[in-house]
Amino acid sequence: MRSALRNEGNSPDGKEISLDPGAQALAAELREDGIRGEVRFDRGSRALYATDYSIYRQVPIGVVLPQDTDDIVKTVAACRRHGAPILGRGCGTSPNGQCCNVAVVIDFSKYMRQIVELNPEKKIARVEPGVICDQLRDAAEEHDLTFAPNPATHAFCTLGGMIGNNSCGAYSVMGGQTIANIHEMEILLYDSTRMRVGETSEEELEQIIEEGGRRGEIYGKLRDLRNKYADLIRERYPQIPRRCSGYNLDQLLPENGFNVARALVGTESTCVTVLEATTRLIDSPQFRRTIAFGYKDRFDAGDHVKEIMAHGPIALEGFDHTLTDNMETKFALATDREALPEGGAWLLVEFGGDSEEEVEEHARAAKEALESDGKPVSAKLCDPGEETSVWAVRQAGVDYSNVPGTMETEGTWEDAAVPPEVLGDYLRDFDKLLNKYDYYCVYYGHFGQGCVHTRITFDLKTAEGLKKFRSFLFEAAELVVEYGGSIAGEYGEGQRAELLPIMFGDELVEAFREFKSIWDPQGKMNPGKVVDPYPLDANLRTGTDYNPPQVKTHFKFPEDRHSFVVATERCFGIGRCRKYSGTMCPSYMVTLEEKHTTRGRANLLFEMLQGEAITDGWRDEHIMESLDLCLACKGCKGECPVQTDIATYKAEFLSHYYEGRLRPVNAYALGLIHWWAKLVSQMPGVVNFFTQTPILRDAMKAAADIAPERSIPAFAPKTFKQWFRERGPRNLTKPPVILWPDTFNNHFHPETARAAVEVLEDAGYRVEVPEQHLCCGRPLYDFGMLNLAKRQLHQILEALGLYLREGVPIVGLEPSCVAVFRDELTNLFPNDEDARRLRSQTFVLSEFLEKEDYQPPKLERKAVVHGYCHHKAIMGIGDEQKVLERLGLDYELLDSGCCGMAGSWGYEKGEHYDVSMKAGERVLLPAVRGADKDALIVTDGFSCRSQITEATDRRALHLAQVIQMALHDGTGPAKDYPESEHLEARPSRPSLRDATLLGAGVALTGSALVWAATKVTT
Ligand SMILES: Cc1cc2nc3c(=O)[nH]c(=O)nc-3n(C[C@H](O)[C@H](O)[C@H](O)COP(=O)(O)OP(=O)(O)OC[C@H]3O[C@@H](n4cnc5c(N)ncnc54)[C@H](O)[C@@H]3O)c2cc1C
Ligand code: SF4
Ligand code: SF4
Repeated sequence: MRSALRNEGNSPDGKEISLDPGAQALAAELREDGIRGEVRFDRGSRALYATDYSIYRQVPIGVVLPQDTDDIVKTVAACRRHGAPILGRGCGTSPNGQCCNVAVVIDFSKYMRQIVELNPEKKIARVEPGVICDQLRDAAEEHDLTFAPNPATHAFCTLGGMIGNNSCGAYSVMGGQTIANIHEMEILLYDSTRMRVGETSEEELEQIIEEGGRRGEIYGKLRDLRNKYADLIRERYPQIPRRCSGYNLDQLLPENGFNVARALVGTESTCVTVLEATTRLIDSPQFRRTIAFGYKDRFDAGDHVKEIMAHGPIALEGFDHTLTDNMETKFALATDREALPEGGAWLLVEFGGDSEEEVEEHARAAKEALESDGKPVSAKLCDPGEETSVWAVRQAGVDYSNVPGTMETEGTWEDAAVPPEVLGDYLRDFDKLLNKYDYYCVYYGHFGQGCVHTRITFDLKTAEGLKKFRSFLFEAAELVVEYGGSIAGEYGEGQRAELLPIMFGDELVEAFREFKSIWDPQGKMNPGKVVDPYPLDANLRTGTDYNPPQVKTHFKFPEDRHSFVVATERCFGIGRCRKYSGTMCPSYMVTLEEKHTTRGRANLLFEMLQGEAITDGWRDEHIMESLDLCLACKGCKGECPVQTDIATYKAEFLSHYYEGRLRPVNAYALGLIHWWAKLVSQMPGVVNFFTQTPILRDAMKAAADIAPERSIPAFAPKTFKQWFRERGPRNLTKPPVILWPDTFNNHFHPETARAAVEVLEDAGYRVEVPEQHLCCGRPLYDFGMLNLAKRQLHQILEALGLYLREGVPIVGLEPSCVAVFRDELTNLFPNDEDARRLRSQTFVLSEFLEKEDYQPPKLERKAVVHGYCHHKAIMGIGDEQKVLERLGLDYELLDSGCCGMAGSWGYEKGEHYDVSMKAGERVLLPAVRGADKDALIVTDGFSCRSQITEATDRRALHLAQVIQMALHDGTGPAKDYPESEHLEARPSRPSLRDATLLGAGVALTGSALVWAATKVTT
């Protein structure tokens, strides 16, 4: 007989992590069953799925990624045979712990993302559970249709998850919650019963019951349940636009058509698994206008909602100064603030229509009428640019509700909803409650439907804090019920269900229990959530026993109270790193794997410090595997709202992982490029002979673990520094500027640095170049060689000391090197004054030129521009754009994210090369291939230029070369392949002198490699 799985984690304090023999047998059986997808019961995968966007954490038994419905059916059957609980998972953005449990997690998001059918005539779509909300909305929009519910996570959340949580969003005003947009569902029960459910007439109901079988039994019990509780349901369910609390038993009432599909919406994996859903699509207004109203405060704004709703908007969202204050603290408001009218709180009201005139007239009339009642202090009918800005502020709500180190907030009381007509008064009383408990929060949300988001400064680490947390939640629930509202306005219940009796009373809570047991009599579907819930303060991610060890690190993490532990707490799970635009996260965009998201990596490092699921600390192979596909692009540092900085954590991790042991050969070949390049600068022809001659080249690549498909860049015959030394400085009486001779431009692309000299001299500067062999150490970070990196930085601080103290500016051409001085440097040496000077005095070329108000000559050409990841993340590319505009270029800035090369990462063979090419092929490489041949291709990163050279017939130029082009022949006609004249040719064969040095070179390089491999271990 097979053993039932132990289920220790389901006790209130249970954080089960061991893979007991039952779980091992289940994993083996799943594999034997021929699951086409993936079965992962290893510690790393379990750690990865231990949490969602909530305060809770439970390590699952294992994870299955099904490829098709058959896989799901087999998985559920095997779990039943072993008595293992299960739960479905989409993007894992659930706010109340309904997406973590000691269960087998079935993750639909990787493979099950097909829109099976989209029928514009019938206005329906059939979707698999892993389809992304925007995927469906975009497909529908091609027919001027839309799927109305759009949670703020619409770019990455799944339909399965939206059905699980009964999600909403701004356009629920127009089309209702998810529940109102589901026609039918195909479902699977824990006992393997499979059926299609939807609306059922009374005749059909009786017929189904008569037919008997498991389906008939279920329908019979549902009918009896309905009959037993119908009056109570009618009495106790609040009739408000946003009720997400409790099961939707009202959908079984005759007046609602005994809709079993809709009754199962919002059941959070506690009853059934959704295999497929048929959704409703509605007409999508093709013309839209937004009015932004400003109010004295959020209470006044709340008071005005009812009047505005009477004008029939398609969305009505609100927020107040608490959000804009936080955005300002994080320098994230920029010009968007200017688009908002005067006030301390705002309502954004969107109108929709079939023509521009219709919507314009509607919006103007509403504005006039609503202004005249004197409630708003200001009003603005936004133009398209302003519309983008004001909505960007609203959409940043969750992102800026938490400011690590300044205002650290937690979820759980985050989405209560009341009747919209009493919103102002509710907010007044809620404010009093918050003050009573001395809590603080940011306010934003779906004011039009009375739902306000409030992440609160709860203390979840001390006994006193938890007592206060519980007490507050109970009082807050009482308050919302007094106002006729709902505890959940859109986030679902999860573990918060302990509060449900306050809203529904014990009898209806018993009805929920009966409903669940009709579907899941064994109690194996997502146990402890919604029904018979764990206590609110059980299974916490932190809690009173949270006390991770303080580890000694190279980086000092000054913005995280000087603690790596605090840095790993930054990620709060919102899942934005699973989006498909921008830079974060290139490896996820290619693999669609949670373990290759920023969140997955942050969670694994968090788990490493807990020492439960991840037990090998800095030597853990699961973490290594996850970090290995991190391109260290810093996209997360730039785009994650809490600046989770995986590139830095990866460098730190690798430094410990390799402590006292050898790294792979490419770490020495590529990480130590500065030293190799220095050696080669005496005989570039010799090395080029090796790297550019077919058989030798292949041997070199194989020895250094470089992908055979890649070519090794040729060294320039003369380095930039050799050229500069020979030429000497000019503009001797002008102010000095140091041009940073980074390894890449110095040795491989000296023409870029020579162009920069010309530009800086044209801008009125005396260019100086450090004589010493210095390197910022960027390649060292990628391999975690942090001791060496620190040594390099010390040398730089010493070499530049005098210049730094005299305030001489330093201009870097390679954004990743500038990023070292602007970011890593002060993280390693937060208290070193010279380090701070270097940080504040170093600029990329465009920043420096803009600061100096330099006006280059015009270059009226077309250009396709790709921003380098580190440039975007650390410096921002606003100044780059300003310089391109000053040049008069007609340019397109690509949303190309990371080029995929990321330093030497994309050169490495195997998975790195594959992911690198897929990342490049996402946007950048097709855009370059498709660009007009007379257009310039512009990017400042050495690796991006290499990726373009490798995969297209174009060569990209650095901004310095573009300005040089303007200085030389700005007025000339645009030719095809305009870059060709600005790039230096490399000799393909060694000279006689070089050939005589060949033997010596081989010997030297060989011994150096051996030396490095044996000596350099940190
Ligand atoms: C930053 C942020 C903003 C948000 N804004 C909104 C908002 O504006 N409006 C809103 O409504 N919500 C919002 N949410 C909550 C959340 O994003 C939504 O509930 C979303 O729809 C969940 O989708 P998901 O794919 O992440 O689901 P998951 O979290 O993966 O799953 C949600 C629930 O559904 C269950 N489930 C998943 N797949 C299945 C299946 N096939 N069968 C049965 N059950 C299944 C899961 O077990 C879980 O209980 C927000 C969350 C975050 C982090
Ligand atoms: S890493 Fe950032 S974007 Fe990703 S889930 Fe965490 S907080 Fe959100
Ligand atoms: S550094 Fe880049 S690849 Fe790595 S986690 Fe961050 S966004 Fe993803």
